[in-house]
Amino acid sequence: MKICFISIDVEHDFGSPSQEKQLRKFQGVENLDKILNIFKNQGISATLFITGQVLEKYKDKVKKWAKDYEIACHTWSHYFWNKIKGQERKQEVDKFIELYQEIFNQPPKGFRAPSHLIDEQGMKLLEEKGFLYDSSIIPHYPFFKKYRGYKGRAPLVPYHPNVKNIRERGEMEILEIPVPGQFLGIPLVGTWISKLPIMSYQLLFLIRKPDFLTLNLHSWDSLSHKRLRKIEKILTILKNKDYQFKTGRQICEKFSKD
Ligand SMILES: [Zn+2]
Repeated sequence: MKICFISIDVEHDFGSPSQEKQLRKFQGVENLDKILNIFKNQGISATLFITGQVLEKYKDKVKKWAKDYEIACHTWSHYFWNKIKGQERKQEVDKFIELYQEIFNQPPKGFRAPSHLIDEQGMKLLEEKGFLYDSSIIPHYPFFKKYRGYKGRAPLVPYHPNVKNIRERGEMEILEIPVPGQFLGIPLVGTWISKLPIMSYQLLFLIRKPDFLTLNLHSWDSLSHKRLRKIEKILTILKNKDYQFKTGRQICEKFSKD
């Protein structure tokens, strides 16, 4: 069985960490149902990685989404973790957990770092805070492109990380659900999907059908009609290639050590 982890990072528009928090816009969040309706029509379950800022501002919307989707943590403020250290990271997680617990009467299980910037200390913190899985690590990337979130190779399927090097397999309790792309590391993310012709993905799937894939969208992908159309097409391709769509929780149950 081939598995595709479907996720959306739900955050302020375009996710810039430096933007003054008061000036941030949330049009993508307000229009997120445009993406979720595509999921609904195709019977797809997914995980929404939500910032605390969104959770606080759109509590009722998130509660509604929680009926059909898994709600997970994307930190409170969407600061990049290569710029902040220990205490500040802890606050970014604690504040989120507190509000989540208050709304859902249970702690969040999944985490994704803004811009995929996670390191060993960050992973340890997540484990201490009781997260069951992280989904930040990008295990490969096209050689002709640079991306700050790509830090070198890692396993292409879910794995338990090594405490000394989270890009290797090890004994940590937390499960890493990586974000592998298609052939050559071409990512299945909204920005790439909208730039590449849909045919190129069709072609890639003829060459290779990985056992595990992660489709990673952003709330602000909902702002472009063209992007929405292409997301729909990618989902259809994945379905035709026999991928089963799973939430992070479901993947966790399947891949975690006994
Ligand atoms: Zn983000």
